[in-house]
Amino acid sequence: MKKKLTPFPSQGLEKEELLNRLRTFKKEDARWKSGRTFSHIYNPGSDITDMVREAYNLFFSENALNPYTFPSLRKLENEVVSMAAHLLGGNEDTSGCITNGGTESIFLALHSAREWAKNHHPIIGKPEVILPQSAHPAFHKACHYLQLQPVVVPLGADYKVNPAEAWKAITNNTIAIVGSAPAYPHGVIDHIGKLSELAIENNLWLHVDACVGGFILPFARKLGHLLPDFDFTVPGVQSLSADLHKYGYAAKGASVLLYRNSELRKYQLYTYTQWPGGVYASLGFGGTRAGGAVAAAWAAFCGIGEAGYLKLTEKTLQTVRRLRQGIEAINGLKLVVQPDISILAITSDKIDVFALADKLTEKGWFVNRQFRPPSIHLTVSPIHAVVADEFLLDLQTALDEVQQLSINRIGNTLQTVATKGLKWVLPKKTFSKLQSLTTSGKPDPSAKNAAAMFQLLQEYAGDPEIELMVLNTLDELYTNTE
Ligand SMILES: *Cc1c(COP(=O)(O)O)cnc(C)c1O
Repeated sequence: MKKKLTPFPSQGLEKEELLNRLRTFKKEDARWKSGRTFSHIYNPGSDITDMVREAYNLFFSENALNPYTFPSLRKLENEVVSMAAHLLGGNEDTSGCITNGGTESIFLALHSAREWAKNHHPIIGKPEVILPQSAHPAFHKACHYLQLQPVVVPLGADYKVNPAEAWKAITNNTIAIVGSAPAYPHGVIDHIGKLSELAIENNLWLHVDACVGGFILPFARKLGHLLPDFDFTVPGVQSLSADLHKYGYAAKGASVLLYRNSELRKYQLYTYTQWPGGVYASLGFGGTRAGGAVAAAWAAFCGIGEAGYLKLTEKTLQTVRRLRQGIEAINGLKLVVQPDISILAITSDKIDVFALADKLTEKGWFVNRQFRPPSIHLTVSPIHAVVADEFLLDLQTALDEVQQLSINRIGNTLQTVATKGLKWVLPKKTFSKLQSLTTSGKPDPSAKNAAAMFQLLQEYAGDPEIELMVLNTLDELYTNTE
């Protein structure tokens, strides 16, 4: 495809024309409003979304950079942080900030840990951070930018990080350890209590990644669900991230990062006082920050309230139960592990779940594919209550179709090669050729037959050639072409 430049518009469009164009662009998007999307969207229903949007719009132009310009935003942020601390086992000492998302919260937490270690845990080598295999890629990304060494530890049979392995991974250079509540791939909560013991014994910083769980776990517990301790009630926890734009139902662009006390938060504050432009000081990584995102988070907390979050959580967990039972009743499918909360990972010993995912895509569902074991990932939110039964029916139909497919077309060359491990026998170039003949050669989950591609991605995970292919695809996707 040829690169092209979009000419800068010479005249502004009429508002109606402009909005119509935007609406047209949306037509190809995942159909999240009706609940057909099982990731990226946390939909509490249009009443709440409309309220939060209005709050966002009230602060559409305001900037949360300078605490003196818009005291309203400072107050809103302080209150959101405080309410989050109240929910997550904090006390008057807990402090924090609103960031632009989970990734920024994780960056800041690891940066603070690194700076804290300079004072409290001196080392000679490159600082190491212990990451469970299931920890979010944002941690690897942060290590990459912050010159930290990620040390990945395997999961136990329960898909939680194995504390004994974490203990073995500690070296003289370890400064921090991470646990998730829950981890995104399988929806299970790491043994935070055990990690806390390790952290205290070895003087390490423990960060809990409650990005996805932070605003559903506390309500699930209040509803009577038995859950392990994961928040500041666990003594070794130094920092915790919880995304407002997930189960907090706020607008995109908002996460909370909490610290056990403001001494720890100081490691992330930044100031530069020699600039001709005046004194610069910022709370987090961002300079200008969307006032709307802060106001929307406050509006979500105050507009929904505990009673509302309890209702939404109840609805979500009922739907999880319905889906779980439905999946377990389908012969040939099973869950990777019983989830602790609202994330399900579907796998199979009998069929190719990537082919199953293709069939679901054909039926208008948006699901993510995961590796080792190959699985289909569902993040359940309240909206899915209305589509759970339809999804289960489609899942059964999709399974029947895949079984039909594998009888008719045994030996999809690529899949056979990949699954049988013959790839090690084939020279790489041959394999790449094979791959480009068999598929588009690009990881496109919306393609008709993406299964072979995902099989390949799983087999070659971590291979520099595959990583390059993914980077090139990303580069191409964000290039204007005709
Ligand atoms: C979503 C998520 C993140 C990253 O958050 P972003 O808002 O996408 O930057 C990190 N950890 C977990 C467990 C998550 O679910």
